[in-house]
Amino acid sequence: MLYESTRGNFPDQTGKEAIALGMVPVGGLFVPKELPQIHWEEVRGISYPELAQLIFKRYLPDFPEEKCVETSKIYTDGVFDSDNPAPLVNVGDMGILELWHGPTAAFKDMALQALPHLLGESMQVLTHTDKVLILVATSGDTGKAALEGFKNVEGTEIMVFYPEHGVSTVQEQQMTTTDGVNTKVVPVVGNFDQCQSAVKEIFGNPDLREKFKEQGIAFSSANSINWGRLLPQIIYYYWAYLQGVESQRIRPGEKMNVVVPTGNFGNILAAYYAKEMGLPIHQLICASNENNVLTDFFSQGVYNRKRPFFVTSSPSMDILISSNFERFLYEVSGRDGSKVGKWYDDLQALGEFTVDSDTLAKARKAVIAGWAGEADVLAVIQSVYKEHAYVLDPHTAVAVKVYQDYLRESGDNTFTMIASTASPFKFAKTVLEGIDADALEDDEWANLRKLREITGWSIPKGLQGLEDKETFGLEPVQPEEIPELIQKVYIPNR
Ligand SMILES: *Cc1c(COP(=O)(O)O)cnc(C)c1O
Repeated sequence: MLYESTRGNFPDQTGKEAIALGMVPVGGLFVPKELPQIHWEEVRGISYPELAQLIFKRYLPDFPEEKCVETSKIYTDGVFDSDNPAPLVNVGDMGILELWHGPTAAFKDMALQALPHLLGESMQVLTHTDKVLILVATSGDTGKAALEGFKNVEGTEIMVFYPEHGVSTVQEQQMTTTDGVNTKVVPVVGNFDQCQSAVKEIFGNPDLREKFKEQGIAFSSANSINWGRLLPQIIYYYWAYLQGVESQRIRPGEKMNVVVPTGNFGNILAAYYAKEMGLPIHQLICASNENNVLTDFFSQGVYNRKRPFFVTSSPSMDILISSNFERFLYEVSGRDGSKVGKWYDDLQALGEFTVDSDTLAKARKAVIAGWAGEADVLAVIQSVYKEHAYVLDPHTAVAVKVYQDYLRESGDNTFTMIASTASPFKFAKTVLEGIDADALEDDEWANLRKLREITGWSIPKGLQGLEDKETFGLEPVQPEEIPELIQKVYIPNR
């Protein structure tokens, strides 16, 4: 199994090489050259770690068997707060796949607890490297999940960049209270796209790479541009299907629909890969918030990021440049690296690109897209709580609203699984506003307690006592100051 660039501009790499590099150093993302086929019956009845191990092995044949075993054990070694790391819960006619039982209460843990193991093994292919510097741009949840995954892991340093006013109070406090010897957290004056672009530019800057290499330091990424981040996300779509069958919500072999609240297009891309690997999926539904650049793409074939950027109640989806969309376009364009390269050059230079009608038709066949506004989110949180006593976070609420619209328009009553990406306690203010606006407090930590009181749900362990912890965040920087900052911090006597 080898990995190739989405832009056809780089030699094929092994799994280890693709993960160690994070992204194609000359621009582009690594994708597997072929997708292994795994029939759901082949994995029926096995445990989550066994399933994880099998999927790792198929995609990473260059990894020693023990490494795949070790990595897959994390899902049941007590880091996740239930024996089932991703339970499929019944809420009315929907199956809600709760992906937030990890240490940071968002779905990013499903991959970021595994990534340090995968990256640790992968780094061995790099020569002259004593240390990996992991640079992370975050819209809120990746940051803390990556910090938790890499905290005090030998041979790694991690620096996280987040938009100064673009994350929730809880998200910011989670990140800045991280006390690892190798962890740094930096607010950036700007939005997530600016953070992500600044980090991508560093990866694509050969001079900077060389300077760090001289010091024995290699860059890598914990964002979903890294194949090692996407791979673990495929596992839970199989897991959801198997639970659906076991609980008789899905008849054996029957297809399910999957709805994913989307930002960087990583989570839904993993579902797309699962479908291409043979998992019985009928419709894949991409749900966006008011930053609905993807919805517009699926209706017109134009990806246009020149538009107002909205700060919404689902901040982890406040993204106008969805990195992994490049991988999706690569697939639906018939793996045409020169087309993809041209589109992404256009995006860089002109802020938009237009795909050919063939590619658009294939994209629309693969994915249906919709979006939800801020008022919709509150209304859905309220109605689902009233009808089912189930508490949705705002990201999951976006997905539920888009699903309700789809159901009304299509009449398709195929069993539908909604990917639930965060605990409602991470976004207590919005959730309370939906459930009982009169109960809102001035202070976010009081909102958390209020939400617990009203719903009877417990606050996730990782969020308990957070407000009183000491913080270690650095001073805010401008996006263009990031290259200087990392040199100052990691090669001080240059
Ligand atoms: C990251 C995140 C998303 C978006 O996932 P992508 O893989 O970036 O599309 C949605 N919801 C939550 C809570 C997230 O943290």
